[in-house]
Amino acid sequence: ADQTTAASTVDGNTLVAMCLARADIDKMFGVVGIPVTSLANRAVALGVRFIAFHNEQSAGYAASAYGYLTRRPGILLTVSGPGCVHGLAGLSNAAANAWPMVMISGSSDQSCTGRGDFQELDQIAAVKPFSKFSAKATDITKIPSSVFSVVDWAVAGRPGGTYLDLPTDVLHQTIERSEAEKLITLALNSRNKDLIEKPLISSSEIQKAVGLLRKAERPLIVFGKGAAYARAENALRKLVESTGIPFLPTPMGKGLISDTHELAATAARSLAIGKCDVALVVGARLNWLLHFGEAPKWSKDVKFILVDISKEEIELRNPSLGIVGDAKDVVEMIDKEIKDDPFCFGKTHPWVEAIKSKAKDNVAKMEVQLAKDVVPFNFMTPMRIIRDAILGMGSPAPILVSEGANTMDVGRGVLVQTEPRTRLDAGTWGTMGVGLGYCIAAAVASPDRLVVAVEGDSGFGFSAMEVETLVRYQLPVVVIVFNNGGVYGGDRRNKEEITGPHKDDPAPTSFVPGAAYHILLKAFGGKGYLVGTPDELKSALDESFSARKPTVINVTIDPSAGAESGRMQHKN
Ligand code: ADP
Repeated sequence: ADQTTAASTVDGNTLVAMCLARADIDKMFGVVGIPVTSLANRAVALGVRFIAFHNEQSAGYAASAYGYLTRRPGILLTVSGPGCVHGLAGLSNAAANAWPMVMISGSSDQSCTGRGDFQELDQIAAVKPFSKFSAKATDITKIPSSVFSVVDWAVAGRPGGTYLDLPTDVLHQTIERSEAEKLITLALNSRNKDLIEKPLISSSEIQKAVGLLRKAERPLIVFGKGAAYARAENALRKLVESTGIPFLPTPMGKGLISDTHELAATAARSLAIGKCDVALVVGARLNWLLHFGEAPKWSKDVKFILVDISKEEIELRNPSLGIVGDAKDVVEMIDKEIKDDPFCFGKTHPWVEAIKSKAKDNVAKMEVQLAKDVVPFNFMTPMRIIRDAILGMGSPAPILVSEGANTMDVGRGVLVQTEPRTRLDAGTWGTMGVGLGYCIAAAVASPDRLVVAVEGDSGFGFSAMEVETLVRYQLPVVVIVFNNGGVYGGDRRNKEEITGPHKDDPAPTSFVPGAAYHILLKAFGGKGYLVGTPDELKSALDESFSARKPTVINVTIDPSAGAESGRMQHKN
């Protein structure tokens, strides 16, 4: 009889699958092998979609992004030892980005601990720096409470990664099905309610926030991927439109309010952050991406109002006013408070006018560069063509995945986000190699949207074999590779002195020139294009966007076009 539904006893594998299904987990990413292959199969039998990868690193990146996009923890399943270690890439990325995910790893037999068992590792110790909670089911009866707690902890407060350890012997233990059902019910009833509850927001803090905004001379609203995660877009748009305050999204905050909105300060970023006197920052950390909130990028007198789900985050930054709470709830309360006594900065307010005119100037300057058809391609010409093709898709807008130094930097300025949560990039950690994992997560999370990756050849190469995964699941993903023959762009040895006995080796920044990445996809039955001119690119985009099939477009870029370290040369 079928172990998942009919047998009178269940083993550990089945019990984990039953618990995941009861925790409303409907997708899993991972790589099967000893001892978790049956676990994956049992989960599938209970309605969970298992997306099988080549490499745990990509599967982990997928799980983290899936958590961000869906607000349910992305699940990564790995084998023991090395599988778990590969998965740490995903888990650490979830921690850095504050995205909910659960890594579930099989582990070696508990009776062999310390004696060199197959793939033996103290996995609980290994995951410690990257997980906010971990549990080891040391006995089959501990499985239900362990599964529900790792799921609840992943989404509690500031989201992040959690870890569940499943020893081989536990996966093979059996109990009566009726006993298993009882344990599940018991564990569900004793879930920690504190983890599920949202913090209470004090109305006096809301009043203070509104008071500061009302009195400000040069206010700014900044929002990030925490606000995106909280689904705060409608509340934020209402706030911006009712008060006339300009807004600035962080890279992944882009699209919460359309980049094309008249109050978007993106193209006047330096002015906006350099001159604002009150900044309401919602779901975005004052970390390196926002220059730590410090002078000289920000005015030294700026008053920050920080809205964040994490009390620790607010304590760390010590703003003029901190509001701990869910971004959507807080902004809705601010909207309500303003509605009773409205104020608006109006189109002719000098601050609003200054931002608008600066943005207009900067956009016009960029458009001059973009308008040129430069062949061999620089970064700007193909980016313009891709921007227009994406905008041409209308709604639902494609999800954009972007990584690479120059490709991501140029793309961030040129590509336009019109809808929330349609941009996934290297994020808080500047993680390269996320591309294919993010594409797969996005396609699985939002089946109605096309997924378009715009990445450098280096970023693509980290996980290029996952193009087979795209083809296997027939995901509507178009990967556009900006191929300039290396990291930052080809062989740059003439820019830096390389001497010594290995000076004739390929430069550390270089790959094989003219690599045929498009053929890679054809090897698996997908579609590949090699393009080097505007017309070729336009027609490849046209065909692939309407076909919605796994595609790689290999775009030949002039190897000398990119800058070393993109726009972060000061860090190199
Ligand atoms: P970005 O990279 O876009 O600047 P960050 O990842 O630095 O964004 O910051 C996101 C912040 O959002 C984190 O500090 C996190 O604690 C916070 N956050 C996560 N979920 C919520 C939520 N539901 N409401 C408010 N803040 C949230």
